[in-house]
Amino acid sequence: MRLALPSPLRRLFDYLPGKGLDVALLKAGIRVKVPFANRVLIGVLIEVVEETNVPVEKLKPILEVIDDAPIISPMLLSFCQWTANYYQHSLGDTLSWALPNLLRQGKYPDDNKELYWRVSQNASLDDVRLNRATKQKKTLRIVMQHPHGLSQGLLQDLEIQPDTLRRLQEKGLVYGELRERKHTPHQGSWLIEPELLANEEQEKAIQTVSGSLDHFQTFLLYGITGSGKTEVYFQLIHQVLQAGKQSLVLIPEINLSPQTLYRFEKRFNAKIAVIHSNLTDKERLNAWQQAKEGTVDIVIGTRSAIFTPMAHLGLIIVDEEHDSSYKQQDGLRYHARDLAVVRGRMENTPVILCSATPSFESLYNVEQKRYHWLSLTERAGSAEKPKILCLDVRAQTMDAGISSQLQHLITQTLNAGQQVLIFINRRGFAPTLICHDCGWICHCPHCDARMTFHLKDHVLRCHHCDYQMSPPLACPHCQHVNLKPVGVGTERTEERLKVLFKDWPIWRIDRDTTSRKQAMQEIVETVRSGEPGILVGTQMLAKGHHFPNVTLVAILDVDSGLFSADFKACEKTAQLIVQVAGRSGRAEHKGKVLIQTHLPDHPLIIELIDKGYLAFAQHDLQERKEANLPPYSHFALLRAEAYKKEQLDAFFIKAHAQAELLATQFANNVFEIFDPVPAPMERKAGRYRAQLLIQSNLRPMLHHFLSQWIQSLEEMPKMSQIRWSIDVDPIDL
Ligand code: ADP
Ligand code: ZN
Ligand code: ZN
Repeated sequence: MRLALPSPLRRLFDYLPGKGLDVALLKAGIRVKVPFANRVLIGVLIEVVEETNVPVEKLKPILEVIDDAPIISPMLLSFCQWTANYYQHSLGDTLSWALPNLLRQGKYPDDNKELYWRVSQNASLDDVRLNRATKQKKTLRIVMQHPHGLSQGLLQDLEIQPDTLRRLQEKGLVYGELRERKHTPHQGSWLIEPELLANEEQEKAIQTVSGSLDHFQTFLLYGITGSGKTEVYFQLIHQVLQAGKQSLVLIPEINLSPQTLYRFEKRFNAKIAVIHSNLTDKERLNAWQQAKEGTVDIVIGTRSAIFTPMAHLGLIIVDEEHDSSYKQQDGLRYHARDLAVVRGRMENTPVILCSATPSFESLYNVEQKRYHWLSLTERAGSAEKPKILCLDVRAQTMDAGISSQLQHLITQTLNAGQQVLIFINRRGFAPTLICHDCGWICHCPHCDARMTFHLKDHVLRCHHCDYQMSPPLACPHCQHVNLKPVGVGTERTEERLKVLFKDWPIWRIDRDTTSRKQAMQEIVETVRSGEPGILVGTQMLAKGHHFPNVTLVAILDVDSGLFSADFKACEKTAQLIVQVAGRSGRAEHKGKVLIQTHLPDHPLIIELIDKGYLAFAQHDLQERKEANLPPYSHFALLRAEAYKKEQLDAFFIKAHAQAELLATQFANNVFEIFDPVPAPMERKAGRYRAQLLIQSNLRPMLHHFLSQWIQSLEEMPKMSQIRWSIDVDPIDL
């Protein structure tokens, strides 16, 4: 038997079937328990093989077969196999990422049965054993009031503790009964509220996709913010529901708000499951199982939901497809958007990628005629497009990052009874403390990064390793007491705005102010109520939320984004500007967007403002083509880290040499193997980090190369001090 085990090793493991086991029952996708290096692991059967390279005396028998029938469908299994191959990851570990925790622990999904508690025939409230057990007596009375059985699901509402019931059960006074859960078939209309009358562009998009609902095709639905993309895919989901099929909707982490769910629930009379990382294990398993059985109609989820098995999948939607939260940044480094397309192909269903700022990869795929282009260029309803203006701040006096021109516009907007949104890329009070006398800057002792000053808690905090310290009273270098905050952060801007605009409310949204569960929701609701005021925040503001009464958006500092060495930096900056701009003027007021910059002549800014995102994208794609950067070529990145720099260097010297050697077995110039370089942040949380980039224009060759290279890396001796990983299609270098 060949098994995938939860191990980082990129191979399968052979075992013998246990004694007396009916081999006919062994099918790919069942779980088994096996002994593995003094432990018991739960593995998944991949295939039954007659022969193996492992010497017979070393083969161990499995301990137990967990499932009678495959718990992982052939489709999900091949999807995971594809994923493991593509991302050069072990299949066992890939399955661990794909499956709910409880299944990995060997638990059974509840087979659509529900537990009911019933009173035993001769139970009586006068039972002497209950004389001093008032709780049990009370509980027994309640169970007696439910002659047909008390459903387990009601216990909490009735404030009954499961423990109490168990004690009654031990005394033989009550018993549990498993009953088939009633599955009510759908009745009536799938809609709760009527659909909007689609405009011409929407209609065209809907028609095009609905002509392809029975087969695989990827669509890129481009539409400026507010153009009604959601309405388009809602109407398509409706068609899918009518055809008796399920839809899978992926959304970025940040969009997972009650509002998003509410929009679906308001529209559809359908069963909806939400899958995200904050579910309890039990909830996750339930959602997983219902999707698998086909008892939910719509699954909405963040990146990992792409692994949800679905009985009758009919449509996959990836909302905000450019969003970087679709890329898993540790362990199995998959990109859920790319996997959505793979899954669509495997299951022969259409895939719609939606965005106001499509990723360059997707635009390239449209150009290559792999994706079908759909576009919405007008705002739906009455709202107008916002106007983007550039504010040259060279030689201007700035007050906590705000130019006097901007101050003036803010006052105007507030006086008109409208709201202002100020976007800053950095949370905290100021990037750091600097000594005004000697120029000393406070660095994190564990990372190559500056400490960020947080005024309210009066601490210096490293945003990369969470190390905290109280600010020194005097400069550790020259001992002078003249430490000043430099730069701008959300907290500092908020402080200053409170002084400059003291008659107006100021709301701040960043990781610090929204760590409490409901906090984000509360602020969003206050702002949406429309009262004039100023909203200050980071990235968290750029996505998802609509603030109809915001008519002025200011982006304080885009310059840092234009100087990064990262090949995706310009793309990300442009997406950010357009996304932030999209938050404004959604209703009857026209919005204005101001970009404060020291680089008003930068081509990115000019192109973006004059011609818009798509023209800018075309321009930047052309540059990538000339430089042979992705998507015109393919990257894979070896990352590694270690506490000792010598060990890290030694690892990379070997890894590099092996790569060079391996490349000689392929045709000339198929690969470019770069020298290892320190990571953008060379030291993080005490570890040294470096990386090595491999580039190729031929994807299949690259994969062939990687799997061989990785094998040689895995076989390298004395590696326990090194943590390494491979990132296929990295999104940051
Ligand atoms: P997007 O997803 O592109 O940002 P939405 O689907 O959220 O846009 O639509 C923006 C607003 O326009 C919503 O309030 C929506 O109800 C409205 N809207 C969308 N389509 C139409 C339509 N055909 N007629 C009238 N209003 C529409
Ligand atoms: Zn000093
Ligand atoms: Zn740090």
